[in-house]
Formats: sequence, structure tokens, C-alpha cells
Amino acid sequence: MNTVLDQLRAIVGDKHLLSDGDLSAFEVDWRKRYRGKALAVVRPGTTGEVAAVVRLCARERIAIVPQGGNTGLVGASVPDDSGRQLLLNLGRMNRIREIDPANLTMTVEAGCILQQVQEAAAARNLLFPLSLAAEGSCTIGGNLATNAGGTQVLRYGSTRDLCLGLEVVTADGEVWDGLSGLRKDNTGYDLRHLFIGSEGTLGIITAATMKLVPQPAAVMTAWVSVASVEAAVELLQRAQARLGAGLTGFEMMGEFALSLVRKHYPDLRHPLPPAPWTVLLEQSDTEGEDHARALFEALLEEALEHGTIVDAAVAENIDQSHAMWHLRETIPLAQADEGPNVKHDISVPVSRIPAFVASTDAALASHFDGVRMVDFGHLGDGNLHYNVQAAPGQDAAAFLSANEKAINQLVYAAVAAHGGSISAEHGIGTLKRDALLQFKSPVAVRMMRQIKQALDPGNLFNPGRVLER
Ligand code: FAD
Repeated sequence: MNTVLDQLRAIVGDKHLLSDGDLSAFEVDWRKRYRGKALAVVRPGTTGEVAAVVRLCARERIAIVPQGGNTGLVGASVPDDSGRQLLLNLGRMNRIREIDPANLTMTVEAGCILQQVQEAAAARNLLFPLSLAAEGSCTIGGNLATNAGGTQVLRYGSTRDLCLGLEVVTADGEVWDGLSGLRKDNTGYDLRHLFIGSEGTLGIITAATMKLVPQPAAVMTAWVSVASVEAAVELLQRAQARLGAGLTGFEMMGEFALSLVRKHYPDLRHPLPPAPWTVLLEQSDTEGEDHARALFEALLEEALEHGTIVDAAVAENIDQSHAMWHLRETIPLAQADEGPNVKHDISVPVSRIPAFVASTDAALASHFDGVRMVDFGHLGDGNLHYNVQAAPGQDAAAFLSANEKAINQLVYAAVAAHGGSISAEHGIGTLKRDALLQFKSPVAVRMMRQIKQALDPGNLFNPGRVLER
């Protein structure tokens, strides 16, 4: 009788089953916070192989952890330390199956790297408008499984809004072909939305049909200094009124977050001197460079005249625009270099962000002496990465282990009081599983459990993530 590993080898080929050597790239998460031990790493190359692996695991009662680029931030993409969970990495399933320019869609396999998807669209003069700092290594399957957000949600929505159809391997090893390119289809429950954002707990996404949009004729980017969070929200309103659907990015960064970039990446040039808050503003225009520049400069002049902004630098070319985005995207790396901190990925209605930041900053300062706030994020979506760093000179790791729970409790209670969510875009995973029970409606949690029971009764997929059971 063949062992399970022999049977897996027979399905995917010897080379694509990894069971010894250094597997840390698959077993340790991006933040190096979760370290697991897999039964083995299996790397199927086709949907049929994924289905055969799932059928074998269902028979043998072996749990499966699906994985794409392993850039997830909530401890859901690596196995636990039991040595009994099979890690199923979709990296080999990286074919662009079809681009349909007239329907403005593309069908891609789950293991395609996000940047590869963007480049394939651009080669046909089309835009796939999902963009995030991990785009060079995260996969479209992971983006779908976490319903990733990123920097252009304001205009194009999150991954959910960009998806028209899915192909999924279910818990009994069947293939659901829901790869529709339809924008209208009201034939009963919309199953794709169950799998999007399910963090690998309901099925394995093997392919998806995604929306494309025409490439903009011109893109304008500005680095803008503002004196307060209120002023940043006022600028957002002005930009929405002036630019309408042309407003494609609105990121806000606190001075301490940018000071960490200056400290750890001293070679990067900052367009303006430090300011309490900085906004990265982006406009995409369908008419062309002159039209875009005139609109953009009128907005910034008006904002300067009314005292909404203190100063602004407009990118003169694509390199300057990339350099501005690079500064923003370096913040997570710079804060990791500074040492561990307590991270939050929260959202509240945009109108309540100033009050949330003022009152929560004050409460944290009074309970935890000298803490520093690494605030940055997608202000246009009401989404902040609201992270708490130890006081200067304090041991960051000791601070984290002593205070993380209490800080989370304080921040999440403030989020709830402002009508917000404890996870705007990163998901629940292991990290926020207990907080979910505290902050989500019990009725909603009961329905989630019923869905899990209906689609994965054997608890085969990513057990213990999102929900305990
Ligand atoms: P993984 O990390 O491999 O997996 C993530 C989850 O999806 C796991 O639960 C896994 O089991 C599941 N999964 C993966 N593939 C599949 C599949 N094919 N079928 C079923 N389940 C699957 N997120 C944002 O939303 N916005 C941001 O701006 C953002 N910026 C980031 C910046 C950095 C530097 C980093 C490291 C991460 C960032 N993230 C951001 C986190 C984000 O969740 C991931 O980058 C991305 O969406 C995950 O893709 P992945 O392929 O790496 O998935």
C-alpha cells in the first residue's frame, strides 16, 4: 500500500512534492510571526491535479492549507506546527488563459503573480487596476482569498469588485466552473462571493475571470503636505468634487511613519520637507496630459488658497510618480526595520477618521507611556494602518509581548465606537480570530459557521483560520 506521500507524488510528479530540506519559504509567514511544519508541500500544475490532491486528502482526513505568494499578514497562509497539514502552493498554476479585450476581461490561473497579471493587461493596452506593495510576489488567488484592497479601491473597488467568475475545487474534490465573463447574472445565490475573502477555508480557487478597464490617457501624482487629519479629509472632498471618477488614489501618511523611511532608507529623496501629515494624491484622466494637468493644478491651487494644504509637489514625469509611490510603499519595510509593533488594519467612515485618530491617539498615549504612532493608509477608503510602536529606547519585542492584547482591546473598542471594522483588507486568519467573535454580530458569526459546515463539513480547508470551527 502506497503511503500518502507516494500517492501525492503520483498525482503531481516527483519534483513537485517537497517533503524535506529547507521549506521555510513555505512554512514561515511574511512577518516571521507564524512558523509551521508541513506534512509536505505539494505544487500541482493543473486544476485536475488540485482536485485529485483534495480527493486524496478528504479520504485520508488530511487538512490542506492553500498558499499563493505567502504575503498574507494574518497568519493564514502557513501550516500549524503539527506536521500533519498539507501545504498546497498554487505557484505553478500561473497561466493567463485568455484576454478578451471586447468584453474587457481576462481569465487567469490562481498562481499568477499580480504584477504578471497587470503586465499582461498592459501589453494589450488595458489596465488591471489592483495594485498593492506586495504585487511582485502575491498571487491573484491570494488576492481573491483575502479580498485584497490596495491603493485604487477608491475608484475601482477591492478584488471582489474586480472579479466576475471563479473556478474552485470544492471540499469533495469536484471542480466548480464558474468562470463567467458576465456582468449581469441573477441565477440564484452568487457563489463567487462566498469564496472571495474566505481565506482558503471554503475551497481552493484555481482560476478567475477578472475585469479590465481601458488604460488612462494620463496619470498625475502629487505629494501634498497638510497640517491635520481634518485637512486631509477636506482635501479628499475637494478632490472628489473636482476630479470625480478621475480620483484614483488618496493615501495619507503620518510624519513618524515617514521619519522611519528617512531613517532606514536614507537614500530615498522626499519631495517636500517633513509635515505633520502627507497625502499622496493620484488622478487618472481619459482625455490626456494637458486636460489632466489643468484639472489637477486647479485643485491644488484652490486647496492652497483655502488653507486646506500647506504645500504640494506635482510629479513631472513617470519616474517622479514612481518615486513618490515608492516612498509610500517603503513604510511597511521601514517599520519592520524599526522593530516589532502592534499592527491594526482598521476602517471607519471617512468622516469619522479625524475624531477616531484624535481620541484613540490620546487614549493610547495616556495608557502606554511614550508610544509612537505609525499611521498610514488608504484614507480615501476610510482604511488606516494604525500601528503602535514602543517608546524610543524601549525593547520593542518586550513591549509587544507585554502590551499587544491591551492595545488591541483599546483600539478595537474605539473602532467599534466609531462604527468601523477591525479588519479592513488583511482578513482574520489566526491573528484576529478571537477578536472577530468579540466584535462581529453573533448572528453573522452563526451564519458564517453554517456556511463553513455546508461547504467544508470535514473541516479540510485551512482549519482554525477565520473561525475556530
Ligand atoms: P497568501 O499569503 O499565500 O495567502 C493568503 C490567504 O489566502 C491564506 O488564507 C491562504 O490560505 C489563502 N489562499 C491563497 N491562495 C489561495 C487559493 N488559490 N485558493 C484559496 N485560498 C487561497 N493587502 C491588502 O489588501 N492591501 C494592501 O495594500 C496590502 N499591502 C501589502 C503590502 C505588503 C508589503 C505585504 C507583505 C502584504 C500586503 N497585503 C495587502 C496583504 C495581502 O493579503 C497580500 O499581499 C495578498 O493579497 C495575499 O496574496 P498571496 O498570494 O501572498 O496569498
